[in-house]
Amino acid sequence: MEEALRQLVAGFQEAGSTRSFTPMLKRLASILDVDHALIAEIEATTRQALTLACWSATGPKDPFTYALAGTASERVLSQEACHYPEGVCSLFPEDRLLARLNAQGYYGIPILAPGGGLIGLMALMHNRPLQLPALAKEIMPLVALQAGAELARQRADRQTLWDSVTGLPNRRHFMTLLEQACDEARQANQPLSLLHLDIQRFKEINDLHGHEIGDRLLAACAERLRHVAEGDERIARLSGDEFSVLLPGHANGELSGAMRRYQAAMEEPIALEGRHFKMVVCIGAASFPYHAPDASQLLQASGIALNHAKQARRHRRVFDDAMARALQRKEALQARLTRALRNQQLTLHFQPQVDLASGTLTGAEALCRWHDEEWGWVSPGEFIPLAEERGLINQLGHQVVRSACRQLKQWEAQERHFPGRLSINLSAQQLDNPQLTNQLLRLSNGILPRQLGFEITETALMRTPQQAIRITRELQGVGFSLAIDDFGTGYSSLNYLKRFAADTLKIDMTFVHDMLDSSHDRAIVSTIIAMARALGMKTVAEGVERREHVELLCELGCDQAQGFYYGRPTDADDFADKWL
Ligand code: C2E
Ligand code: MG
Ligand code: MG
Repeated sequence: MEEALRQLVAGFQEAGSTRSFTPMLKRLASILDVDHALIAEIEATTRQALTLACWSATGPKDPFTYALAGTASERVLSQEACHYPEGVCSLFPEDRLLARLNAQGYYGIPILAPGGGLIGLMALMHNRPLQLPALAKEIMPLVALQAGAELARQRADRQTLWDSVTGLPNRRHFMTLLEQACDEARQANQPLSLLHLDIQRFKEINDLHGHEIGDRLLAACAERLRHVAEGDERIARLSGDEFSVLLPGHANGELSGAMRRYQAAMEEPIALEGRHFKMVVCIGAASFPYHAPDASQLLQASGIALNHAKQARRHRRVFDDAMARALQRKEALQARLTRALRNQQLTLHFQPQVDLASGTLTGAEALCRWHDEEWGWVSPGEFIPLAEERGLINQLGHQVVRSACRQLKQWEAQERHFPGRLSINLSAQQLDNPQLTNQLLRLSNGILPRQLGFEITETALMRTPQQAIRITRELQGVGFSLAIDDFGTGYSSLNYLKRFAADTLKIDMTFVHDMLDSSHDRAIVSTIIAMARALGMKTVAEGVERREHVELLCELGCDQAQGFYYGRPTDADDFADKWL
């Protein structure tokens, strides 16, 4: 008995790791000296059994499905064990299993899930009369119990392969399918392509209409995708609002048709609860083996193409080498930027801000600069967005405030009087910090708040307007001044503009550049100035490069200006020599 149990435990350990019951059945058959042993899963509603494993002295048997009605196994449906020592074939002439194995004796026992409920059966069969030893009646219930636990686990695993909202394979399942497809493509020397689809701003739909509507929309999208899928194309849901399509046999040159087909299907408005939802869908694509040598890199490449698709006019992009190079550069840049931050190697340049009417200095903007030993000067247009994307912007922001304040103190010590205020840029993510105001006060210790101004872009303020209202009021409350940067590009509503506690609007330089030639841009500049006046705010024109800009801005009533006409951003000493 003990030896028998020891062997069975080993068999179950194998079943758990190999996901196959066959080795365990083989041990069981040998312990009890029977010719066949099998485990079948039972589908409760259809009363059908599907053999999961069948060990037979006469060789391996393929899995097969059979109806339980009229078979020797039928009694297990009422959760009872049953034993027919001999003549079982003639007792159950309909039983295809018995006929197939040519069994004379039969013993069957139900397999219950751990919480109860029939999920399978285990059967022992013999080609001669089956006299089971007493041992059998003791160990079979135990074996059935173990099998029940393992079967339930396998069933749960299977459920984790399918997405319950759309009925599509989920990411995990899809990765297996993709790996298989890559193997097949490699063997057949055929290409294979992958589309990566993403619904834009789906989070807003969820937030606005609730998750139930969101789920129903996703299910509708999945239905659309199924409907337009052709041949052996496979669809899956990768995550929240991301889907993917496997296109066996497609090379990268033949993708545009498929991309358009899937995009059009998903962008067709969906009617739900009396509303029409119009999705915007971006698609990235990549092909095996051209862009990636294996499944996971193929998925990665399609994801990179997707990121580029978000900026593309038609929201569709196929992966290319430039994308791979851009990504490599970004990774390398991140590593170097992290190091530069750690070693405090970033510096500041200062650009004058002047009163338009008198031409006198009203302050300066501090602009971050990075000189890398190997890469030379890296533009803030590149490293600031990178710092934002990779979570380095808070650290960078702290260093900028600290060194700006240090510089003010140094000029003071050199008896170079700095008039007005020094403006420092803040990123959107810095606004997420509820402690921002206190932190800025701490970092600017020794400097009066009125000597500092902060610039926040209109887009950043509009990202979470309620939070921005609160933070801007706090900053103003402690005496910092505040400018809305790049104004005119961020689509803020007037309603908010009044509630943000900002004292200055910085007119985006694109309007200033174009206002001399475009009456449209000139009208925008003039309206912004009038609006700021009405709200009691000052205006600063950015990007002032020519005398004509100065003249027109004066005429339109703009207060201050900043731009190459007055001076480019330059280092502290140079700035002091020219202006202080
Ligand atoms: P911004 O805050 O709008 O800064 C003005 C940008 O316009 C600066 O670019 C400046 O060099 C440039 N500029 C000034 N006058 C002229 C002109 O007459 N013509 C032209 N064509 N350009 C002019 P820069 O220094 O490359 O900075 C780009 C952006 O990077 C800044 O735009 C700001 O958004 C961001 N940035 C720079 N430093 C920091 C920083 O310390 N923190 C944060 N969060 N962002 C920063
Ligand atoms: Mg700025
Ligand atoms: Mg600006």
